[in-house]
Amino acid sequence: MRRLVLASNNPGKLREFGALLAPLGFDVVTQGEVGIPEADEPFATFVENALTKARHASRLAGLPALADDSGICVQALGGAPGVYSARYAQMAGQAKSDSANNAYLVSQLAGKLNRHAYYYCVLVFVRHADDPCPIIAEGAWHGEVVDAPRGAGGFGYDPHFLLPALGKTAAELPPEEKNRVSHRAQALRALVARLQTEAAEPDTR
Ligand code: IMP
Repeated sequence: MRRLVLASNNPGKLREFGALLAPLGFDVVTQGEVGIPEADEPFATFVENALTKARHASRLAGLPALADDSGICVQALGGAPGVYSARYAQMAGQAKSDSANNAYLVSQLAGKLNRHAYYYCVLVFVRHADDPCPIIAEGAWHGEVVDAPRGAGGFGYDPHFLLPALGKTAAELPPEEKNRVSHRAQALRALVARLQTEAAEPDTR
C-alpha cells in the first residue's frame, strides 16, 4: 500500500476517500494525523484552492496528496457564493452557520426568477509537491434554489437545493442516493477512473 495524505481533517471525507482509494493501493491518512496544519485558501476558484491545499500537504508530508474543494454556484448571482459558500453570511457580517448562509442566499435571490444553481466539487491529486501534471477531477450537480427549506438530511444548502427531476431537495434524499449522484460522487468517480488508467499505464511521470 502507498500512503496518501488527505488535505482535510473531516472524518466523513476520510471514510469516503479511504474506502474508494484502498482498492487502488492507497492507504489514506489525514493531514492532521501526520501533524500538518491547514493551508490557507486565498483564491477565487475552487481548483486553485484545492491545488494549493494538495501541494501544501504533499510538501510537508513527503507523500502523494489529495485535496478537495466544493461549494454552491448560483447563476443569477454570477456564480456566488462559490468558494465562499461556507462563510457566505459571515462575509456580510452575519453568523457563520448553515442557517445564516441559507437565509442570506434566499435574501439575495428575492425577486429573481432565475433560480438555477449547481453544487461543484473539484478533487486534485498530486504525486508529489512539484508534480507538473496534477490529476484534476470535477463534478457538478444541477438544481434550483427554493425559498422554503425542505428535508432534514444532508448539510449546508441542501434544504434549499431542489432537484426538479426528482421533485425533492437534496436534504430529502436518502444519504445513499445523495452519495451516488452528488457533485462529490461524480468527482470521486472521475478521479478513480483516472487513477485506474494511470495504474494500468507504464509510469511516465
Ligand atoms: P467544503 O469544500 O467541504 O469545505 O464545503 C464548502 C461549503 O460548500 C460547505 O460548507 C457548504 O456550505 C457547501 N457545500 C459543499 N458541498 C455541499 C453539499 O453537498 N451540500 C450542501 N452544501 C455543500
